[in-house]
Amino acid sequence: MTEITSVEFEKEVLKSGKVILDFYSSECPPCEALAPKFESLAKLYGQDVKFLKIFRQKNRELADQLVVKSSPTLIFYDNGKEVGERLTGGIKRSDIIKNLNKLLPESKVATITGKIKPTISEFDVMILGAGPGGLTAGLYLCQAKVNTVLIDIALPGGHVATTHEVSNYPGFIEPQAGYMLSHNMSEQTKLCGTAYKVAVDVTSVDLKKREIVLDEYETVKAKKIIIATGTSPNLMGIPGEVELKGKGISYCATCDAKYYGDKEVVVIGGGNSAVEESDFISKFANKITMVHQFDAFTANKTAIERLNSNPKISALLQHEPRSFKRDGDKIITEVEDLQTKEIKTLVSDGVFIFIGMKPNVQLFKNKLTLDQWGYIKTDEDMRTSFPDVFAVGDVISKKYRQITTAVADGTIAAIAIAKELN
Ligand SMILES: Cc1cc2nc3c(=O)[nH]c(=O)nc-3n(C[C@H](O)[C@H](O)[C@H](O)COP(=O)(O)OP(=O)(O)OC[C@H]3O[C@@H](n4cnc5c(N)ncnc54)[C@H](O)[C@@H]3O)c2cc1C
Repeated sequence: MTEITSVEFEKEVLKSGKVILDFYSSECPPCEALAPKFESLAKLYGQDVKFLKIFRQKNRELADQLVVKSSPTLIFYDNGKEVGERLTGGIKRSDIIKNLNKLLPESKVATITGKIKPTISEFDVMILGAGPGGLTAGLYLCQAKVNTVLIDIALPGGHVATTHEVSNYPGFIEPQAGYMLSHNMSEQTKLCGTAYKVAVDVTSVDLKKREIVLDEYETVKAKKIIIATGTSPNLMGIPGEVELKGKGISYCATCDAKYYGDKEVVVIGGGNSAVEESDFISKFANKITMVHQFDAFTANKTAIERLNSNPKISALLQHEPRSFKRDGDKIITEVEDLQTKEIKTLVSDGVFIFIGMKPNVQLFKNKLTLDQWGYIKTDEDMRTSFPDVFAVGDVISKKYRQITTAVADGTIAAIAIAKELN
Protein backbone atom coordinates (compact mmCIF):
# COMPACT_ATOMS: atom_id res chain seq x y z
CA MET A 1 0.00 0.00 0.00
CA THR A 2 1.42 3.39 -1.02
CA GLU A 3 0.55 6.97 -0.11
CA ILE A 4 0.59 9.34 -3.11
CA THR A 5 0.06 13.05 -3.74
CA SER A 6 -1.66 14.75 -6.67
CA VAL A 7 1.74 15.20 -8.36
CA GLU A 8 2.08 11.40 -8.62
CA PHE A 9 -1.55 10.83 -9.68
CA GLU A 10 -0.84 10.66 -13.40
CA LYS A 11 2.07 8.22 -13.09
CA GLU A 12 0.69 6.04 -10.29
CA VAL A 13 -2.98 5.96 -11.36
CA LEU A 14 -3.55 7.05 -14.96
CA LYS A 15 -0.44 5.35 -16.35
CA SER A 16 -0.82 2.17 -14.31
CA GLY A 17 -2.79 -1.06 -14.63
CA LYS A 18 -5.33 -1.99 -11.97
CA VAL A 19 -5.60 0.52 -9.14
CA ILE A 20 -7.78 1.17 -6.09
CA LEU A 21 -7.44 4.74 -4.78
CA ASP A 22 -8.60 5.79 -1.30
CA PHE A 23 -9.30 9.51 -0.75
CA TYR A 24 -9.22 9.82 3.06
CA SER A 25 -9.35 12.67 5.60
CA SER A 26 -8.23 13.19 9.18
CA GLU A 27 -10.86 13.22 11.97
CA CYS A 28 -13.06 11.00 9.81
CA PRO A 29 -14.42 7.92 11.64
CA PRO A 30 -15.55 6.11 8.44
CA CYS A 31 -12.01 6.66 7.04
CA GLU A 32 -10.52 5.10 10.18
CA ALA A 33 -12.96 2.19 9.96
CA LEU A 34 -11.94 1.63 6.33
CA ALA A 35 -8.19 1.63 7.04
CA PRO A 36 -7.89 -1.92 8.52
CA LYS A 37 -10.14 -3.37 5.76
CA PHE A 38 -8.05 -1.63 3.08
CA GLU A 39 -4.84 -2.92 4.67
CA SER A 40 -6.02 -6.53 4.99
CA LEU A 41 -7.33 -6.52 1.39
CA ALA A 42 -4.01 -5.06 0.19
CA LYS A 43 -2.34 -8.18 1.63
CA LEU A 44 -4.71 -10.43 -0.34
CA TYR A 45 -4.99 -8.52 -3.64
CA GLY A 46 -1.80 -6.44 -3.55
CA GLN A 47 0.06 -8.60 -6.10
CA ASP A 48 -2.56 -7.87 -8.77
CA VAL A 49 -4.05 -4.50 -7.84
CA LYS A 50 -2.16 -1.38 -6.75
CA PHE A 51 -3.52 -0.09 -3.39
CA LEU A 52 -3.05 3.68 -3.13
CA LYS A 53 -4.08 6.22 -0.51
CA ILE A 54 -4.30 10.00 -0.96
CA PHE A 55 -4.89 12.59 1.78
CA ARG A 56 -7.89 14.65 0.62
CA GLN A 57 -7.19 17.78 2.72
CA LYS A 58 -3.70 18.22 1.21
CA ASN A 59 -4.82 17.34 -2.34
CA ARG A 60 -8.04 19.32 -2.58
CA GLU A 61 -7.59 20.48 -6.16
CA LEU A 62 -7.34 16.91 -7.46
CA ALA A 63 -10.25 15.84 -5.24
CA ASP A 64 -12.39 18.67 -6.67
CA GLN A 65 -11.32 17.83 -10.22
CA LEU A 66 -12.41 14.19 -9.67
CA VAL A 67 -15.63 15.37 -7.93
CA VAL A 68 -14.69 13.65 -4.67
CA LYS A 69 -17.15 15.19 -2.21
CA SER A 70 -17.07 12.76 0.69
CA SER A 71 -14.48 11.00 2.84
CA PRO A 72 -13.59 8.25 2.38
CA THR A 73 -14.11 7.73 -1.35
CA LEU A 74 -12.73 4.65 -3.10
CA ILE A 75 -12.19 4.85 -6.87
CA PHE A 76 -11.22 1.88 -9.06
CA TYR A 77 -9.11 2.26 -12.22
CA ASP A 78 -8.21 -0.14 -15.03
CA ASN A 79 -5.45 1.11 -17.36
CA GLY A 80 -6.08 4.75 -16.49
CA LYS A 81 -9.89 4.58 -16.85
CA GLU A 82 -12.23 4.82 -13.87
CA VAL A 83 -14.31 1.62 -13.69
CA GLY A 84 -17.07 0.19 -11.50
CA GLU A 85 -18.93 2.01 -8.79
CA ARG A 86 -17.36 4.60 -6.45
CA LEU A 87 -17.70 3.62 -2.79
CA THR A 88 -18.16 6.31 -0.11
CA GLY A 89 -19.08 6.67 3.57
CA GLY A 90 -19.33 3.51 5.72
CA ILE A 91 -17.77 1.18 3.15
CA LYS A 92 -18.35 -2.59 3.48
CA ARG A 93 -15.46 -5.01 2.97
CA SER A 94 -17.70 -7.15 0.76
CA ASP A 95 -18.41 -4.17 -1.56
CA ILE A 96 -14.68 -3.51 -1.99
CA ILE A 97 -14.15 -7.21 -2.77
CA LYS A 98 -16.97 -7.14 -5.36
CA ASN A 99 -15.28 -4.23 -7.17
CA LEU A 100 -11.80 -5.75 -6.90
CA ASN A 101 -13.04 -9.07 -8.29
CA LYS A 102 -14.51 -7.26 -11.31
CA LEU A 103 -11.00 -6.01 -12.14
CA LEU A 104 -9.53 -9.53 -12.27
CA PRO A 105 -10.07 -12.74 -14.29
CA GLU A 106 -12.14 -15.49 -12.57
CA SER A 107 -9.15 -17.82 -12.16
CA LYS A 108 -7.20 -15.13 -10.29
CA VAL A 109 -10.21 -14.38 -8.03
CA ALA A 110 -10.49 -18.11 -7.20
CA THR A 111 -6.79 -18.27 -6.23
CA ILE A 112 -7.08 -15.21 -4.01
CA THR A 113 -10.28 -16.29 -2.24
CA GLY A 114 -8.75 -19.78 -1.79
CA LYS A 115 -6.14 -18.21 0.50
CA ILE A 116 -8.80 -17.19 3.09
CA LYS A 117 -9.02 -19.81 5.89
CA PRO A 118 -12.27 -19.99 7.98
CA THR A 119 -11.87 -19.55 11.80
CA ILE A 120 -14.10 -20.21 14.84
CA SER A 121 -13.89 -18.51 18.26
CA GLU A 122 -16.06 -18.91 21.37
CA PHE A 123 -17.03 -16.42 24.11
CA ASP A 124 -19.50 -16.24 27.01
CA VAL A 125 -21.07 -13.08 25.62
CA MET A 126 -20.94 -11.34 22.26
CA ILE A 127 -22.03 -7.73 21.99
CA LEU A 128 -23.07 -6.45 18.57
CA GLY A 129 -22.37 -2.73 18.46
CA ALA A 130 -19.66 -0.75 20.27
CA GLY A 131 -21.48 2.54 20.94
CA PRO A 132 -21.98 3.75 24.52
CA GLY A 133 -24.51 0.96 25.24
CA GLY A 134 -22.30 -1.89 23.99
CA LEU A 135 -19.09 -0.44 25.46
CA THR A 136 -20.66 -0.09 28.92
CA ALA A 137 -22.02 -3.66 28.80
CA GLY A 138 -18.52 -4.79 27.75
CA LEU A 139 -16.93 -2.95 30.68
CA TYR A 140 -19.29 -4.36 33.31
CA LEU A 141 -19.02 -7.91 31.91
CA CYS A 142 -15.25 -7.71 31.81
CA GLN A 143 -15.11 -6.50 35.41
CA ALA A 144 -17.37 -9.46 36.32
CA LYS A 145 -14.76 -11.73 34.63
CA VAL A 146 -17.13 -12.78 31.86
CA ASN A 147 -15.32 -13.65 28.61
CA THR A 148 -16.78 -11.05 26.21
CA VAL A 149 -16.27 -9.90 22.63
CA LEU A 150 -17.41 -6.57 21.19
CA ILE A 151 -18.20 -6.62 17.49
CA ASP A 152 -18.77 -3.51 15.36
CA ILE A 153 -19.10 -2.90 11.65
CA ALA A 154 -17.31 0.43 12.20
CA LEU A 155 -14.84 1.60 14.85
CA PRO A 156 -15.93 1.79 18.51
CA GLY A 157 -17.84 4.88 19.65
CA GLY A 158 -21.17 4.82 17.81
CA HIS A 159 -22.83 8.21 17.29
CA VAL A 160 -20.75 9.79 20.04
CA ALA A 161 -17.61 9.42 17.92
CA THR A 162 -19.12 11.70 15.25
CA THR A 163 -20.77 14.22 17.59
CA HIS A 164 -18.58 17.30 17.74
CA GLU A 165 -19.43 18.26 21.32
CA VAL A 166 -21.19 16.57 24.25
CA SER A 167 -22.15 18.85 27.12
CA ASN A 168 -24.59 16.68 29.06
CA TYR A 169 -22.57 13.58 29.96
CA PRO A 170 -22.15 13.72 33.74
CA GLY A 171 -18.68 13.99 35.23
CA PHE A 172 -17.26 16.64 32.90
CA ILE A 173 -17.50 20.33 33.71
CA GLU A 174 -16.56 21.50 30.21
CA PRO A 175 -18.23 20.17 27.01
CA GLN A 176 -16.29 17.16 25.68
CA ALA A 177 -15.37 16.43 22.07
CA GLY A 178 -17.53 13.39 21.21
CA TYR A 179 -14.53 11.74 19.61
CA MET A 180 -12.54 11.91 22.89
CA LEU A 181 -15.47 10.82 25.06
CA SER A 182 -16.06 7.73 22.93
CA HIS A 183 -12.30 7.07 22.72
CA ASN A 184 -12.04 7.11 26.53
CA MET A 185 -15.08 4.82 26.90
CA SER A 186 -13.59 2.40 24.40
CA GLU A 187 -10.08 2.42 25.95
CA GLN A 188 -11.54 1.77 29.43
CA THR A 189 -13.38 -1.30 28.16
CA LYS A 190 -10.46 -2.51 26.04
CA LEU A 191 -7.88 -2.10 28.83
CA CYS A 192 -10.10 -4.17 31.11
CA GLY A 193 -9.61 -7.08 28.68
CA THR A 194 -12.73 -7.26 26.50
CA ALA A 195 -11.92 -8.67 23.04
CA TYR A 196 -12.63 -6.41 20.03
CA LYS A 197 -13.55 -7.33 16.47
CA VAL A 198 -14.21 -3.99 14.77
CA ALA A 199 -14.53 -2.62 11.22
CA VAL A 200 -15.89 -6.02 10.16
CA ASP A 201 -18.83 -6.96 7.94
CA VAL A 202 -21.50 -9.07 9.63
CA THR A 203 -22.22 -11.74 7.02
CA SER A 204 -24.95 -13.59 8.94
CA VAL A 205 -26.50 -13.90 12.40
CA ASP A 206 -28.06 -17.10 13.79
CA LEU A 207 -29.74 -16.17 17.07
CA LYS A 208 -30.84 -19.77 17.73
CA LYS A 209 -27.28 -21.13 17.55
CA ARG A 210 -25.98 -17.83 19.00
CA GLU A 211 -23.49 -17.75 16.20
CA ILE A 212 -22.45 -15.03 13.77
CA VAL A 213 -20.21 -15.02 10.72
CA LEU A 214 -17.91 -12.05 10.09
CA ASP A 215 -16.31 -11.10 6.77
CA GLU A 216 -17.66 -14.39 5.30
CA TYR A 217 -15.01 -16.56 7.03
CA GLU A 218 -14.84 -15.87 10.78
CA THR A 219 -17.43 -17.63 12.98
CA VAL A 220 -18.01 -16.27 16.51
CA LYS A 221 -20.10 -18.25 19.03
CA ALA A 222 -21.38 -17.21 22.47
CA LYS A 223 -23.74 -18.25 25.25
CA LYS A 224 -25.50 -14.87 25.29
CA ILE A 225 -25.88 -12.05 22.77
CA ILE A 226 -26.39 -8.35 23.45
CA ILE A 227 -27.73 -6.32 20.52
CA ALA A 228 -26.45 -2.73 20.81
CA THR A 229 -26.58 -1.74 17.16
CA GLY A 230 -28.14 1.71 17.69
CA THR A 231 -29.70 3.68 14.85
CA SER A 232 -28.82 5.03 11.38
CA PRO A 233 -29.85 8.29 9.74
CA ASN A 234 -33.16 8.30 7.86
CA LEU A 235 -32.98 9.03 4.15
CA MET A 236 -35.36 11.60 2.62
CA GLY A 237 -36.31 9.20 -0.16
CA ILE A 238 -36.63 11.92 -2.82
CA PRO A 239 -35.15 12.09 -6.34
CA GLY A 240 -31.41 12.77 -6.51
CA GLU A 241 -30.61 11.81 -2.91
CA VAL A 242 -29.08 8.39 -3.59
CA GLU A 243 -27.24 9.62 -6.70
CA LEU A 244 -25.68 12.58 -4.84
CA LYS A 245 -24.96 10.75 -1.55
CA GLY A 246 -21.25 11.30 -0.95
CA LYS A 247 -21.15 13.67 -3.94
CA GLY A 248 -22.50 16.76 -2.21
CA ILE A 249 -25.09 15.20 0.11
CA SER A 250 -23.76 14.18 3.52
CA TYR A 251 -25.15 12.75 6.77
CA CYS A 252 -22.01 13.43 8.89
CA ALA A 253 -20.95 16.99 9.76
CA THR A 254 -17.84 15.82 11.64
CA CYS A 255 -16.66 14.04 8.49
CA ASP A 256 -17.47 16.62 5.80
CA ALA A 257 -18.13 20.13 7.25
CA LYS A 258 -14.44 21.08 7.02
CA TYR A 259 -14.65 20.98 3.21
CA TYR A 260 -17.20 23.80 3.13
CA GLY A 261 -14.87 26.61 4.27
CA ASP A 262 -16.42 29.92 3.09
CA LYS A 263 -19.11 28.05 1.15
CA GLU A 264 -22.89 27.81 1.33
CA VAL A 265 -24.73 24.76 2.60
CA VAL A 266 -28.30 23.65 3.10
CA VAL A 267 -29.21 21.66 6.22
CA ILE A 268 -32.41 19.61 6.22
CA GLY A 269 -34.08 19.03 9.60
CA GLY A 270 -34.99 20.93 12.75
CA GLY A 271 -34.46 18.59 15.72
CA ASN A 272 -31.49 18.51 18.10
CA SER A 273 -29.09 16.93 15.60
CA ALA A 274 -29.91 19.38 12.78
CA VAL A 275 -29.69 22.44 15.05
CA GLU A 276 -26.49 21.41 16.86
CA GLU A 277 -24.75 20.21 13.72
CA SER A 278 -25.67 23.45 11.86
CA ASP A 279 -23.96 25.38 14.61
CA PHE A 280 -20.87 23.19 14.11
CA ILE A 281 -20.98 23.54 10.29
CA SER A 282 -21.05 27.34 10.74
CA LYS A 283 -17.45 27.13 12.03
CA PHE A 284 -16.54 26.47 8.37
CA ALA A 285 -19.33 27.51 5.98
CA ASN A 286 -20.25 31.19 5.64
CA LYS A 287 -23.97 30.67 4.98
CA ILE A 288 -26.31 27.94 6.15
CA THR A 289 -29.97 27.66 5.20
CA MET A 290 -31.94 25.26 7.37
CA VAL A 291 -35.06 23.70 5.84
CA HIS A 292 -37.61 22.39 8.34
CA GLN A 293 -41.14 21.12 7.80
CA PHE A 294 -42.72 22.55 10.99
CA ASP A 295 -43.26 26.19 12.04
CA ALA A 296 -40.64 25.96 14.82
CA PHE A 297 -37.50 23.92 15.54
CA THR A 298 -38.03 20.92 17.80
CA ALA A 299 -34.53 20.99 19.37
CA ASN A 300 -33.94 21.89 23.03
CA LYS A 301 -34.13 25.54 24.09
CA THR A 302 -30.38 26.02 24.69
CA ALA A 303 -29.53 24.75 21.20
CA ILE A 304 -32.21 26.95 19.59
CA GLU A 305 -30.97 30.04 21.48
CA ARG A 306 -27.44 29.40 20.20
CA LEU A 307 -28.77 28.97 16.68
CA ASN A 308 -30.80 32.19 16.82
CA SER A 309 -27.72 34.17 17.79
CA ASN A 310 -25.66 32.73 14.92
CA PRO A 311 -25.65 35.27 12.06
CA LYS A 312 -24.55 32.67 9.49
CA ILE A 313 -27.70 30.54 9.90
CA SER A 314 -31.13 31.32 8.47
CA ALA A 315 -34.25 29.14 8.43
CA LEU A 316 -36.91 28.23 5.89
CA LEU A 317 -39.66 26.92 8.16
CA GLN A 318 -42.69 25.03 6.86
CA HIS A 319 -40.76 23.97 3.77
CA GLU A 320 -39.92 20.45 2.56
CA PRO A 321 -37.29 19.32 0.04
CA ARG A 322 -38.70 17.71 -3.11
CA SER A 323 -35.55 16.90 -5.15
CA PHE A 324 -31.78 17.31 -5.40
CA LYS A 325 -29.85 17.96 -8.61
CA ARG A 326 -26.26 18.75 -9.49
CA ASP A 327 -25.48 21.77 -11.66
CA GLY A 328 -21.71 21.96 -12.21
CA ASP A 329 -20.17 22.44 -8.75
CA LYS A 330 -23.50 23.34 -7.14
CA ILE A 331 -26.32 21.30 -5.62
CA ILE A 332 -29.82 22.48 -6.45
CA THR A 333 -32.38 21.70 -3.76
CA GLU A 334 -36.00 22.15 -4.77
CA VAL A 335 -38.15 22.92 -1.73
CA GLU A 336 -41.90 23.27 -1.42
CA ASP A 337 -43.46 25.98 0.73
CA LEU A 338 -46.02 23.86 2.61
CA GLN A 339 -48.39 26.79 3.04
CA THR A 340 -48.41 28.31 -0.46
CA LYS A 341 -47.31 25.11 -2.35
CA GLU A 342 -44.79 27.31 -4.20
CA ILE A 343 -41.63 25.49 -5.35
CA LYS A 344 -38.38 27.35 -4.60
CA THR A 345 -34.82 26.59 -5.65
CA LEU A 346 -31.87 26.70 -3.24
CA VAL A 347 -28.38 26.76 -4.76
CA SER A 348 -25.59 25.58 -2.45
CA ASP A 349 -22.22 23.86 -2.39
CA GLY A 350 -23.49 20.97 -0.29
CA VAL A 351 -26.42 19.55 1.64
CA PHE A 352 -26.47 17.92 5.09
CA ILE A 353 -29.48 15.79 6.06
CA PHE A 354 -30.46 15.25 9.73
CA ILE A 355 -34.08 14.04 9.75
CA GLY A 356 -34.11 11.46 12.48
CA MET A 357 -33.02 7.88 12.84
CA LYS A 358 -34.15 4.31 12.19
CA PRO A 359 -33.19 1.29 14.33
CA ASN A 360 -30.48 -1.06 13.02
CA VAL A 361 -32.47 -4.30 13.24
CA GLN A 362 -32.28 -5.61 9.67
CA LEU A 363 -30.28 -8.71 10.71
CA PHE A 364 -32.75 -9.89 13.39
CA LYS A 365 -36.08 -8.15 12.76
CA ASN A 366 -38.07 -11.29 11.91
CA LYS A 367 -36.82 -13.08 15.04
CA LEU A 368 -37.56 -10.48 17.73
CA THR A 369 -40.66 -8.67 18.98
CA LEU A 370 -40.51 -5.04 17.82
CA ASP A 371 -42.66 -2.02 18.63
CA GLN A 372 -44.74 -0.24 15.96
CA TRP A 373 -41.72 1.90 14.96
CA GLY A 374 -39.43 -1.13 14.57
CA TYR A 375 -37.47 -0.81 17.85
CA ILE A 376 -36.70 -3.99 19.87
CA LYS A 377 -38.97 -4.62 22.85
CA THR A 378 -37.17 -5.64 26.08
CA ASP A 379 -38.08 -6.36 29.69
CA GLU A 380 -36.59 -4.41 32.60
CA ASP A 381 -33.41 -6.56 32.51
CA MET A 382 -33.03 -5.79 28.77
CA ARG A 383 -34.09 -9.33 27.71
CA THR A 384 -35.65 -9.54 24.25
CA SER A 385 -38.38 -12.01 23.24
CA PHE A 386 -35.62 -14.45 22.10
CA PRO A 387 -33.95 -16.65 24.79
CA ASP A 388 -30.41 -15.52 25.75
CA VAL A 389 -30.63 -12.45 23.53
CA PHE A 390 -30.57 -9.00 25.19
CA ALA A 391 -30.77 -5.53 23.64
CA VAL A 392 -29.61 -2.14 24.90
CA GLY A 393 -29.33 1.51 23.89
CA ASP A 394 -31.00 3.40 21.05
CA VAL A 395 -32.08 0.20 19.26
CA ILE A 396 -34.63 -0.68 21.97
CA SER A 397 -38.17 0.57 22.40
CA LYS A 398 -38.03 3.51 24.84
CA LYS A 399 -38.89 7.20 25.17
CA TYR A 400 -35.50 8.90 25.51
CA ARG A 401 -32.40 8.10 23.47
CA GLN A 402 -29.30 9.63 25.02
CA ILE A 403 -25.77 8.54 25.92
CA THR A 404 -26.75 8.29 29.59
CA THR A 405 -29.77 6.08 28.84
CA ALA A 406 -27.70 3.79 26.55
CA VAL A 407 -25.02 3.50 29.23
CA ALA A 408 -27.70 2.64 31.81
CA ASP A 409 -29.19 -0.08 29.57
CA GLY A 410 -25.72 -1.58 29.02
CA THR A 411 -25.12 -1.67 32.77
CA ILE A 412 -28.44 -3.43 33.47
CA ALA A 413 -27.99 -6.08 30.75
CA ALA A 414 -24.42 -6.84 31.86
CA ILE A 415 -25.33 -7.26 35.52
CA ALA A 416 -28.32 -9.47 34.62
CA ILE A 417 -26.19 -11.64 32.31
CA ALA A 418 -23.29 -11.93 34.78
CA LYS A 419 -25.76 -13.18 37.41
CA GLU A 420 -27.30 -15.71 35.00
CA LEU A 421 -23.91 -17.07 33.92
CA ASN A 422 -22.80 -17.49 37.53
C1 LIG B 1 -25.61 14.04 15.76
C2 LIG B 1 -25.97 13.46 17.11
C3 LIG B 1 -25.67 14.18 18.26
C4 LIG B 1 -25.98 13.65 19.53
N1 LIG B 1 -25.66 14.37 20.65
C5 LIG B 1 -25.91 13.85 21.88
C6 LIG B 1 -25.55 14.56 23.07
O1 LIG B 1 -25.00 15.67 23.01
N2 LIG B 1 -25.81 13.98 24.28
C7 LIG B 1 -26.43 12.75 24.39
O2 LIG B 1 -26.61 12.26 25.51
N3 LIG B 1 -26.79 12.06 23.27
C8 LIG B 1 -26.55 12.58 22.03
N4 LIG B 1 -26.92 11.87 20.91
C9 LIG B 1 -27.57 10.55 21.08
C10 LIG B 1 -26.52 9.50 21.46
O3 LIG B 1 -25.42 9.61 20.58
C11 LIG B 1 -27.13 8.11 21.39
O4 LIG B 1 -28.24 8.06 22.25
C12 LIG B 1 -26.11 7.04 21.81
O5 LIG B 1 -24.96 7.08 21.01
C13 LIG B 1 -26.74 5.65 21.70
O6 LIG B 1 -25.77 4.69 21.96
P1 LIG B 1 -25.92 3.19 21.41
O7 LIG B 1 -24.74 2.46 21.94
O8 LIG B 1 -27.25 2.66 21.70
O9 LIG B 1 -25.88 3.31 19.83
P2 LIG B 1 -24.90 4.01 18.80
O10 LIG B 1 -24.16 5.12 19.38
O11 LIG B 1 -25.75 4.26 17.60
O12 LIG B 1 -23.85 2.83 18.45
C14 LIG B 1 -24.26 1.69 17.75
C15 LIG B 1 -23.03 0.97 17.21
O13 LIG B 1 -23.48 -0.25 16.60
C16 LIG B 1 -22.77 -0.45 15.39
N5 LIG B 1 -23.56 -1.31 14.52
C17 LIG B 1 -24.63 -0.99 13.73
N6 LIG B 1 -25.10 -2.09 13.09
C18 LIG B 1 -24.31 -3.13 13.49
C19 LIG B 1 -24.28 -4.53 13.19
N7 LIG B 1 -25.17 -5.09 12.36
N8 LIG B 1 -23.35 -5.28 13.78
C20 LIG B 1 -22.44 -4.74 14.63
N9 LIG B 1 -22.41 -3.42 14.95
C21 LIG B 1 -23.34 -2.64 14.39
C22 LIG B 1 -22.55 0.96 14.86
O14 LIG B 1 -21.43 0.98 13.98
C23 LIG B 1 -22.29 1.75 16.15
O15 LIG B 1 -20.92 1.79 16.47
C24 LIG B 1 -26.61 12.38 19.64
C25 LIG B 1 -26.90 11.65 18.47
C26 LIG B 1 -26.59 12.18 17.21
C27 LIG B 1 -26.90 11.39 15.99
